[in-house]
Amino acid sequence: MATAWRPKFDDSIHDGFTAAKLFGQGVSYTYDDVIFLPGHINFGAHEVDLSTNVTRNIRLRTPLVSSPMDTVTEAGMAVAMATVGGMGVIHYNNSLEEQLHQVKTAKNHTPGFVVHPVCMLPSSTVAELHSLRERKGFTSVCVTDTGAVGGKLLGIVTTRDWDFVTDLHTPLSEIMTSDIETAQYDTITVEKAIQLLKSTKRGKLPIVNGGGELVALATRALFKEDARMPFGGPASVAPDGRLLVGAAVGTREADKERLKALRDVGHVDVVVLDSSQGDSTFQMQMVQHIKREHPGLDVICGNVVATWQARRLIEAGADGLRVGMGSGSICTTQEVCAVGRGQATAVYHTARLANSLGVPIIADGGVQNSGHIVKALALGASAVMCGSMFAGTAEAPGDFMMINGARVKKYRGMGSLEAMTKGSEVRYHSDTQSLKIAQGVSGTVRDKGSVRRNVPFLVQAVKQGFQDLGATSIVQAWQRLDGGEQRLECRTGAAQAEGGVHDLHTFDKRSW
Ligand code: NAD
Ligand code: IMP
Repeated sequence: MATAWRPKFDDSIHDGFTAAKLFGQGVSYTYDDVIFLPGHINFGAHEVDLSTNVTRNIRLRTPLVSSPMDTVTEAGMAVAMATVGGMGVIHYNNSLEEQLHQVKTAKNHTPGFVVHPVCMLPSSTVAELHSLRERKGFTSVCVTDTGAVGGKLLGIVTTRDWDFVTDLHTPLSEIMTSDIETAQYDTITVEKAIQLLKSTKRGKLPIVNGGGELVALATRALFKEDARMPFGGPASVAPDGRLLVGAAVGTREADKERLKALRDVGHVDVVVLDSSQGDSTFQMQMVQHIKREHPGLDVICGNVVATWQARRLIEAGADGLRVGMGSGSICTTQEVCAVGRGQATAVYHTARLANSLGVPIIADGGVQNSGHIVKALALGASAVMCGSMFAGTAEAPGDFMMINGARVKKYRGMGSLEAMTKGSEVRYHSDTQSLKIAQGVSGTVRDKGSVRRNVPFLVQAVKQGFQDLGATSIVQAWQRLDGGEQRLECRTGAAQAEGGVHDLHTFDKRSW
């Protein structure tokens, strides 16, 4: 039945806001505050290409980077992030030697092998082994003369060796298997390792160098697990043919020596100047120093949230910018210092400037779900840096512990009292000042499984978001936004509540 009255539709009144209008109102928006209106779909989600530049010269298949935090990125995370096509940035809340060791371990890693096999001394006891097992959950331990990777391999102890040992004071030297098949680091490949494990019917194959020192471990369990992992595509590989690895440094005099070692000895591929407020003469001088002394090394500066900060750092030589001040899950900067910006607004404005000058931005902090990643990328970011999303995974540093029945790992801000006490206090001038002010907290996050398993699902969810937007690539999403085709709105508190799960008595929220 025809309607009796039809309203007049006025095409000049557009539905939704352009980004320029939404972000030009003097309001600081977070990711949750804004919502995209959908576009037209004429392609499959599998056709969305999320490949991106994380710096002027470095391209990633997956636009995700793990944060340089001591509870997020060491060698294990850097390897996992590169394996899934992203990049990990190794933190520097440690000595030069420790950071260099992490960078070298990640750079020298052969995909498919255990990065950090658990090692103990021959004099360690079965009681010590059980205590370590409770925290780390391994099924075998390598025995070396130093009790660490890099020491001479003396034997291996597996469940079968300790199962029936009742005297907990027994040293591992008495129960270890010394007659072990090993493989040479220079010549071993994943295919050869699988073949050797099959032919010897063993579960572990230690990889050693010419001096018999332990370098890595191949295990039957890891190869089986690899076969079950969702395949996302090729790993991030540097021009030297090894995994792509980043590292953070500061802007003090000693950081120049650190940087030289990381580049010349560790062969790090990209460096992040790690600061909450990057718009400083310290950072400008450091980037100029790097450009002079280490040509060819890409530098990511930051953090910034405003266009003038971005411009100064780009003019100083930045090849990429980290955007976000006060948005991190562990952050108290906005409360303590009264500076920062809502992350959606910060990304939108800095990206307009940086992208026009050909410098990619990395949206850093505040990401809680795949929708936030879609928003960051579509608003102008080339990549997204996460701390809490990757903390609590198997690849994050630290041991799992049980708190109130939940399996958790520690996650802390690099400006928390705990992290400052561990190493970064010199950065807060606390070496010369007695009043230590934290800008971060220390807490825990739940066990999240493996980054290698989660990231392919996360990427698929982001691709579905792009399909809904009607954009087949990150650059196309930017073009739609700048052309005014991509419409947005600000969500009220009620709209945000409606956009989440509601009105259920119980529910199980699993995305994959
Ligand atoms: P920082 O090293 O940049 O600064 C610490 C202090 O040292 C500042 O007062 C700085 O001005 C000063 N400083 C730096 N270089 C100097 C030099 N060459 N000479 C003299 N003084 C110098 O570190 P930060 O900003 O305190 O951040 C510490 C960590 O916490 C970083 O990992 C950072 O990412 C994280 N953080 C991030 C945020 C954020 O919102 N993104 C906020 C707080 C902390
Ligand atoms: P998240 O992904 O929301 O957990 O945020 C991670 C980001 O928070 C990091 O990449 C840093 O930029 C920032 N960050 C790290 N440590 C601190 C801190 O102590 N205070 C404030 N921000 C921090």
